[in-house]
Amino acid sequence: MGLIVQKFGGTSVADAERIHRAAKRAIATQSRGNQVVVVVSAMGDATDDLIELAKKVCTYGGVDTTPPKREMDQLLVTGEQVTIALMAMAIHAQGNQAISFTGGQIGLVTDDAFSKAKIQSINKQRIFEQLEKGRIVIVAGFQGMTADGDYTTLGRGGSNATLVAVGAVLKADVCENFTDVDGIFTADPRIVKNARKIDRISYDEMLELSGLGASVLQTRAVEFAKKYNVPLHVRNSQNETEGTWIVAETPNMEHIVVSGVALKKDLIRVTLKSVPDRPGIAARIFGEIAAANIVVDDIIQNVMDDNTANISFTVEHGELNDVKPIVDALVKELGGKLGPTYHSDLAKVSVVGAGMRVHTGVAQRMFKALADARINIQNITTSEIKISCIIAKEDGPKALQIIHDAFELGKA
Ligand code: ASP
Ligand code: MG
Repeated sequence: MGLIVQKFGGTSVADAERIHRAAKRAIATQSRGNQVVVVVSAMGDATDDLIELAKKVCTYGGVDTTPPKREMDQLLVTGEQVTIALMAMAIHAQGNQAISFTGGQIGLVTDDAFSKAKIQSINKQRIFEQLEKGRIVIVAGFQGMTADGDYTTLGRGGSNATLVAVGAVLKADVCENFTDVDGIFTADPRIVKNARKIDRISYDEMLELSGLGASVLQTRAVEFAKKYNVPLHVRNSQNETEGTWIVAETPNMEHIVVSGVALKKDLIRVTLKSVPDRPGIAARIFGEIAAANIVVDDIIQNVMDDNTANISFTVEHGELNDVKPIVDALVKELGGKLGPTYHSDLAKVSVVGAGMRVHTGVAQRMFKALADARINIQNITTSEIKISCIIAKEDGPKALQIIHDAFELGKA
């Protein structure tokens, strides 16, 4: 008996039949004596379809314009609103009670960073009232509302953030993330055929993996889960098998040196050359980039002999349009002599494992595997529990496979 928050992603609610299957699962969970909150995503590719539609409308007279971000969010929230209503109807049709809420209706307040808003608060009262009445509460994922009442969205894949945030404020016993795969894998199984499902993984490892392009869970969702210590269970909506548990780190997790490998497929390296090497420059550059809500991947600084520095950072390819004007202006102002460069077609391959805290030799094994495959390493970055190499984009999938093999992750 407890309080369980379940989330069904787009593919798990892609049509009427699947919505009924998800509804059945929620009802079964409730009938075992639990209170159940269900967070849903838009049906199937509904969000992508809406984005396509916006693109069409924003191309006018042969010219592509960028849709205003507020209007984009106004459009995208409709996807999840469809699913909550249908899910509540499905539960009703199966003879049980449910009520659906948009983000705004449960007081899910965010800042006003349209398209990547951050959750500030949730009014749990309304949810608890309905749970007390024996209803299953359905909540729209991915959306919130500003204090002024404007609709916002939480970034692609944002229903996971909703799942964990709702789980955290309700102090749920578990957040179940139902998806179309069996759990978190040692590598993306679409690229690495012998990838294996991981049974348990720590928040920190999962944070690294999701930040590195393992797409099942948004980084922010895992951060939230860690902060509020909510166990997350990622599992398949189409079967009953146990998925992957994401939990606080335990000492015996250190036996496993490497838990998984990940690939970020499409990065750009931005370089500001010969900027003055004095205090405040990096703060200035990254302050402006952060103010534009652009997430920077790795930062590399090389100090030159002439009191200047080359500062490079990587961002996802999709951020280029937002980054470029900021960097171009900064370079002009800081007097960088050799103008910014933008190096595209990069990928990042990484190994992640809590066991790296106590085991040595991981970096050497990774670099040797790449060397044996004649893949050139362009940059290396590390944290306590991960090692990343920037390589050519075209080498990405192969690098992922050989590193996976080098650490024998395909073996049980
Ligand atoms: N529907 C949104 C998306 O496709 C949110 C989500 O699925 O989590 O990104
Ligand atoms: Mg989706």
